[in-house]
Amino acid sequence: MIVRENPARIREVVGRVAETDPGAAVRRAEAAGREWSARAPADRIDALRRSAAAVQARAGELAVLLARETGKPLADCRGELAFALAHLRWVCDHAPRVLGERLFDDEAGRLLIRRKPYGVVVCITPWNAPVILAMLKLAPALAAGNTCVIKPSPLAPLAVSEVAAALPGVEVVHGGAAAGQALVGHPLVRKVAFTGGDAAGRQIAAAAGAMLTPTVLELGGNDPALLLPDFSLTGQDYERLVMASFATSGQVCMAAKRLYVPRARAGEFTAAYVAAAERILLVGDPLTPGVTMGPVISAQAAERIRALVPGTAVPLGRSTGDLGAGYFVPPVLVPDLPDDAPLVTQEQFGPAVPLLLYDTVDEAVARANHSELGLAASVWSADEDRAFAVADRLEAGFVFVNTHNRTGMSLRAPFGGVKRSGHGREYGEEGLLEYVQSTVVHAPAAFRPGGPGLAATAYPLP
Ligand code: NAD
Repeated sequence: MIVRENPARIREVVGRVAETDPGAAVRRAEAAGREWSARAPADRIDALRRSAAAVQARAGELAVLLARETGKPLADCRGELAFALAHLRWVCDHAPRVLGERLFDDEAGRLLIRRKPYGVVVCITPWNAPVILAMLKLAPALAAGNTCVIKPSPLAPLAVSEVAAALPGVEVVHGGAAAGQALVGHPLVRKVAFTGGDAAGRQIAAAAGAMLTPTVLELGGNDPALLLPDFSLTGQDYERLVMASFATSGQVCMAAKRLYVPRARAGEFTAAYVAAAERILLVGDPLTPGVTMGPVISAQAAERIRALVPGTAVPLGRSTGDLGAGYFVPPVLVPDLPDDAPLVTQEQFGPAVPLLLYDTVDEAVARANHSELGLAASVWSADEDRAFAVADRLEAGFVFVNTHNRTGMSLRAPFGGVKRSGHGREYGEEGLLEYVQSTVVHAPAAFRPGGPGLAATAYPLP
């Protein structure tokens, strides 16, 4: 039995889930797939739209559950559910076009290209945004005719299980790394979609590789936010930059994790940043109105993050309520760190952000790119064209301009990392195409009745 406590009030149990047999879940998903994949695509889309309506009807109650199990402020949890449903509806609207078959019947012959589902897709997801990160896999996979087995994180298994139960063709498995490994290594599994950290990602890739099972891996990031020398930020822009690092207590893959600021403007920047944090950052219980930052996910996470923060850190924001009751870590800005400090080189995944000063843009770009990770990044400038030019030099799968993190996402834009931040994409058309394989039926013109034929060794002419 997995027991989940409220990270803001450790003594309060939010819920329990029973661990499940991974093999049995895969077999059920495989059996269900025969009927689901044979349905007309429009029938599948109708079923998914009904699921969206069913989740929508319970969104208020599910947001509270999500806030209590993750420690994320209630408004964030409402937003996550709304965005997950928006993504599901986007998939319903676009899947028929993107996944539709293509038929050519012309002078070159008759050619049919179909997008076929893989079969059983295993989805393994983390705790930081459990509902949206699940939906990014389930919605396109189901629309394409796959069935799914999802294994959420044992640290946030509750709200996502309710959402998954409202979707057709989904089995939920509860457990930790061992359950995940059993799923990835199962011979009936045809594709694995994983979001999580580097260590688990490597183990999943190895287990999937041993089975020749393809993967989508959405891994960690160490995103730079690069303020160009001409940056021009209003108070609201500063608040957005603060929340780009501290939303979900910094536990977001695409949080702004390193701030690069021109040395000549360091004093002005720090004063405005600290003032913006004082306005926007209120630390406390996620269910308290006005709170914008809750605790971190666990005692181990709090300990790991505290060990990364040196004594020179500048405290940020305000707090309310009893922070001793949960896994709270106070938000800080950390100036004067060398580039090889652990807070700079590692993904901190917590509410501490280093302030790094630079002298030239070339130097800043080189330092921003000096990482094995390449998930997202941002460029802040008064000149959008200049920002786009610098963005092109950053090694990242997604570069935001004058924003960063959730406020910069787009349902139509593919998201995913370069370098060791993973492979494959979520969102947009690319996110749909991850869950299909193209299959072809071809009658070349040369061999259709009355055709001219070709020598047995020939290639067709272009
Ligand atoms: P994690 O890697 O510890 O766990 C993620 C999931 O994998 C959980 O369900 C866990 O039980 C399972 N798991 C762990 N080890 C496993 C193994 N060996 N085999 C199979 N399954 C295993 O990650 P986390 O701590 O839950 O999440 C934090 C990480 O996720 C951060 O690095 C963050 O950047 C990353 N993340 C990435 C994205 C993205 O889109 N790229 C989004 C959110 C989070």
